[in-house]
Amino acid sequence: MSKQTELDKIKEDILKDKICPDLAKGATQLVFGDGNPGAELVFIGEAPGKNEDIQGLPFVGAAGKFLNEMLEGIGMERSDVYITNIVKYRPPDNRDPLPDEKAAFLPYLRAQLAVIKPKLVITLGRHSMDSLLPGLRISDCHGQAKRLNGQVYLPLFHPAAALYNGAMRQTLIDDFNKIPRILAAI
Ligand code: URA
Repeated sequence: MSKQTELDKIKEDILKDKICPDLAKGATQLVFGDGNPGAELVFIGEAPGKNEDIQGLPFVGAAGKFLNEMLEGIGMERSDVYITNIVKYRPPDNRDPLPDEKAAFLPYLRAQLAVIKPKLVITLGRHSMDSLLPGLRISDCHGQAKRLNGQVYLPLFHPAAALYNGAMRQTLIDDFNKIPRILAAI
């Protein structure tokens, strides 16, 4: 079975298992993930926002545009990577995802990673970091690669948080620019 077929099956499982029915009711659609199933690099954000909910694709709004620019800065395109979120339905009014929502989606995120088998998993913001690398503080560990159970992770600030905050924006760009060196060292 191809990686894409395996990913399609995980998407169907989320629907079949009726994960977070209240979130599902308020959302337009499930935003499962997008990109190259054979990618070395997987980015994991928080949850879909308004544009993502409408288009059914992750990171297609302002934060996504910034992410695309940073990818371009390291010579990559979206088709080189895979992008998803910890929570896969838009929370009402873009509120933060709740702990039980993150916990409900985590097995499916782990299943996505088990299919893709990336060299490097990049968490964007504290919600996806908390789910995969519990107990860390993003202000202390951003831009530092961590190995856990055989998988290398790189926690980064969320592009939406950094978008309009000059200092955080530069820190995120600086951290992002470490990606090629980290990938080469794995
Ligand atoms: N922010 C996220 O965390 N994920 C998206 O898909 C879009 C914005």
